[in-house]
Amino acid sequence: MSASLSHPQATLTRDRILSADRRYLWRPYTAHEDHQSRDPIVVQRAEGSWLYDIDGRRYLDGNASWWTCNLGHGHPRLREALAKQCETLIHCSLADTTHEQAAMLAETLCEAAPSGLERVFFSDDGSTAVEMAIKTAFQFFQQNGEAERKRFVCFGGAFHGETVGAMSVSGMPAFHGAFGPLLFDRFEVPQANDEEEWNRNIAALIEQLDAHGQDVAAVVLEPMVMGAGGMRFWSSKHFRAVAEATKRAGALLIADEVFVGLGRTGTLWACEHGDVLPDFLCSAKSLSGGMLPFAATLVTERVYEGFRGGKSRALLHGHTFCGNPLGAVIAREVLAIYRDERVLEGIPERSERMRQALSALAAALPSLRNPRVLGMVAAFEIAPQTRSGYFDNAGWRVAEAAKRRGAYIRPLGNTMYLVPSLNIPLGDLDMLLDILVASTREVLLASDPNAHASAP
Ligand SMILES: *Cc1c(COP(=O)(O)O)cnc(C)c1O
Repeated sequence: MSASLSHPQATLTRDRILSADRRYLWRPYTAHEDHQSRDPIVVQRAEGSWLYDIDGRRYLDGNASWWTCNLGHGHPRLREALAKQCETLIHCSLADTTHEQAAMLAETLCEAAPSGLERVFFSDDGSTAVEMAIKTAFQFFQQNGEAERKRFVCFGGAFHGETVGAMSVSGMPAFHGAFGPLLFDRFEVPQANDEEEWNRNIAALIEQLDAHGQDVAAVVLEPMVMGAGGMRFWSSKHFRAVAEATKRAGALLIADEVFVGLGRTGTLWACEHGDVLPDFLCSAKSLSGGMLPFAATLVTERVYEGFRGGKSRALLHGHTFCGNPLGAVIAREVLAIYRDERVLEGIPERSERMRQALSALAAALPSLRNPRVLGMVAAFEIAPQTRSGYFDNAGWRVAEAAKRRGAYIRPLGNTMYLVPSLNIPLGDLDMLLDILVASTREVLLASDPNAHASAP
């Protein structure tokens, strides 16, 4: 066995890997039946916008591998930074020790963040970045004379992670409903499905905060786009109004930028759309370029100061791998690449191509709803199932059709979306859009008697 241990990939076939996968792996959010019956792509390597499977087929990565590879797979500078860091320091704790990578990344992040965020706490992933913010907001008020501030406000349709605290402030019953009795009490802003509902719900929230905000610790939100909840866009105007009401109520604002941060919506931080300074800004996913689990929670000096005054007032939170040098060096390099390669400047042209492809598709397919693009997020809904069952499982059927054509795309329920790398080469982006358009047409035209067969 020692030969196969030292070259774990060299001799294995697709079937060998799949049989171990089906026998021993437990996959996230996957029904056992689907695990056994659906054929996954067995990825062997990845580069730029492409995943290569073990049989030599390639697939455009339509979701940047769960929204992490904003700079594509295996950017040469990131590989090099990682390899170089491995030569000196791979890990040490941040307990009576510190190191260049954590300290300098903290400085760089504060310089890059909305002005006023001046301290950085490192953790492992998006869930822990949010969990830390929730616990910190709670402890902040407990020890600063406002112990009655215990409630959290969150949004229906929002997703903030998998830990119990993060689940408690998420508004996704499909993911977290089973844990209902375990979660702490919160006030949830109902999910809105159109602009009018948004106006109504935000007005009601602001009224609540103004009248009864004295027991609220924090408002937790995903600025501009609720990702896992179905790529639901909301306006910068509403975002800003909520931020202002939160401040008036004396509560803290937790901006979860785990998905929307680092250029995804066209600006480096989604908070910039509303010109909002949150008390907490949570970053993960693409922060470490899709290479390692790594996260940061940025806070204002006011929050940090609330923990001054001796041991008994210190923050009661910490993770074993916080500030890991490999994650930190990559995050530093990620930010340097954004600057050197002017990554954000390339987004408007790519946005425009996505917008054009989606509107042409929507014009041709009456059952397609709400095509929308912000920065490097493109999404639309396939109309819900009709009486005759035309659209049963349509999202997955489109994904399957896309796979046959050479793209890896995952639906969120009946929402189809693309979240490619921010710097995807234009030729790859056009190919990805062509595949999405053709696959959607294939599935919907086969099922929708009202579609125009002559459309593009
Ligand atoms: C993915 C996600 C999280 C959780 O991040 P993990 O790294 O999966 O723990 C939290 N918030 C948002 C907005 C996310 O998209």
